[in-house]
Amino acid sequence: MIYTDTRDNKVKVDFRTAVLNGMNSETGGLYIPVSFPRLSDAILDKPSSPSFREIAFEMAKPYVEGEIPEAALQGIIAECYPFNAQVVPLDTHTYVLELFHGPTCAFKDFGARFMARVMSYFNKDEATPLHILVATSGDTGSAVGSAFQGVPGLDVTILYPQGKISPLQEKQLSTFTGNVRALSVNGTFDDCQKLVKTAFTDVELRKKFRLSSANSINISRLLPQSFYYMYSSLVVKDRSAHDNGIQKPAIIVSVPSGNFGNLTSGLIAQKMGAPIAGFVAATNSNRTVPDWIFSGNYEPRASVKTLSNAMDVGAPSNYERIRAMYTLDEVRHLFASYWLDDAGTKRAIQECNTNTGYIIDPHGAVGWKAWDDIRHGAMLNLTSGFPNDADKPGLTPNIPDWAPDVVEKRAVGIVLETAHPAKFGSIVHDAINREPVMPDRLEKVLQLPDNSIPMENSYDSFKAWLEENLKA
Ligand SMILES: *Cc1c(COP(=O)(O)O)cnc(C)c1O
Repeated sequence: MIYTDTRDNKVKVDFRTAVLNGMNSETGGLYIPVSFPRLSDAILDKPSSPSFREIAFEMAKPYVEGEIPEAALQGIIAECYPFNAQVVPLDTHTYVLELFHGPTCAFKDFGARFMARVMSYFNKDEATPLHILVATSGDTGSAVGSAFQGVPGLDVTILYPQGKISPLQEKQLSTFTGNVRALSVNGTFDDCQKLVKTAFTDVELRKKFRLSSANSINISRLLPQSFYYMYSSLVVKDRSAHDNGIQKPAIIVSVPSGNFGNLTSGLIAQKMGAPIAGFVAATNSNRTVPDWIFSGNYEPRASVKTLSNAMDVGAPSNYERIRAMYTLDEVRHLFASYWLDDAGTKRAIQECNTNTGYIIDPHGAVGWKAWDDIRHGAMLNLTSGFPNDADKPGLTPNIPDWAPDVVEKRAVGIVLETAHPAKFGSIVHDAINREPVMPDRLEKVLQLPDNSIPMENSYDSFKAWLEENLKA
């Protein structure tokens, strides 16, 4: 596969280059495949839906062709996914896609594990270590750290905003040892991201170290996230008639979003043939994208702190990829968008539990509430000429092509549950008066010692630290 760049479509690189460079330091753009080959009808129309690993292999194949042999790819997929994405019905028209069954209990395990193994494959004949720099607003760092821990030839430095992630997330980040470490930065997620981006464009630094990224800007994290969109939409297409009597449902995927990597992966799956009719771009008060879809003006801003902190992104990187794939007009046809403030998020956790019995985390709650509102009147109000005020939480005044499917009740929703609720135990407890059960793999982390390193929000300090501490 050939990869190009969101800022210069004359750029042409292979998968290896796109993965190891992370982003194009010359243009500042992000890599993106030149095409998104459709899966064969044999897979898309298989009478019973194919397994997650079968889909993962078939979807990954064209993107690594000529660079990773099929047998090696099979091995990578098997090592990446000893766990699965699980489709759980909430009611007749709503499914939750649980993406938290990996080692760090968040969806980022899907991308990080694939990225780590692909990088290690490409680095196997190199003499010097590859240094991964990653900024995290919560779950990225632990997923990346866990995916790379102990992998030879790779070295990982994680930056996180001090005091702006949950205590458990901080514990997950600060307890790595050996080739993985965390810097606790006195600033916001956007500050962390800026430090990392500055390092990547620092020619002097790049001469000393082989650097690579691991954020959702890395294409090797984005591609594998498309696997579970394909998998879940085929599963839902298969079981829908049985669950709700709808023969050919319009499948709408509601994606709680921050940096918009997850949603971009959904777009890739749709281009590859996933039976998805549309998407809901659901955010917290960091509503840069819903505002853009409504007003047509893209205005990145500083992030604000919310209960769904892994979505606290005011300047989402993957906006650039979405714009490289679609025009604003096309986005308006394909997306509904929705935003929710903290009070609404807390109520959503409560309502979801009362109405369905399900315990949802604050991120998934934003996606659930968006879908639940859309199907219970918000879309009907909008198409009837009673739009929500764009400055108030709720459905953005934009009517996607699939609005009639919702209004005429031919639509079913898949809500992405991006983290295990126990990772946000106190928020969930506040909302429903009980604590979600902590999975063993999280409980264990709490016993480990804290090794994080404090860091000023200054590029000079960050660079000095790298020069002193990294092995060339
Ligand atoms: C990262 C994250 C998100 C946001 O995903 P993006 O790809 O950045 O949009 C949502 N929920 C959780 C739990 C996350 O960790």
